[in-house]
Amino acid sequence: MEIQGSCLCGAIRYAVRLPFDKFLYCHCSRCRKTTGTPHASNAIVAPDALRWLAGQQNVQRYDLPTARSFSSAFCKTCGAPMPRLTRSGKRVIVPAGSLDSDPDEKPACHAHWASRAGWYSDDPALPKFDGDAF
Ligand SMILES: [Zn+2]
Ligand SMILES: [Zn+2]
Repeated sequence: MEIQGSCLCGAIRYAVRLPFDKFLYCHCSRCRKTTGTPHASNAIVAPDALRWLAGQQNVQRYDLPTARSFSSAFCKTCGAPMPRLTRSGKRVIVPAGSLDSDPDEKPACHAHWASRAGWYSDDPALPKFDGDAF
């Protein structure tokens, strides 16, 4: 079974085959910078599990020069994080926020937990609003 994903502006669309090999939250500082959020939500799949449907030429890749393996990829138009091949070429990392439907899987762990942002809260008692809270 496949589900689809896309960027914010819709120029890029892809399909990814389920199930994921791994599905995790990553709290490392690089993922926080890349996503602007307290953690990335990354689905890991084999390279042949990803199919580009539209706009692959609009994907901009960035290999962090000071890192052994960290990369990011995003839409050249809207900046939304997009799937990327690891530098080893062995895995594809899919930013789960770009998925357009529910994979019926949930992240199984928090990676780089010790690097989490000091302001990150996993307090289940945080108030929950169905609309904007500001
Ligand atoms: Zn876009
Ligand atoms: Zn990370």
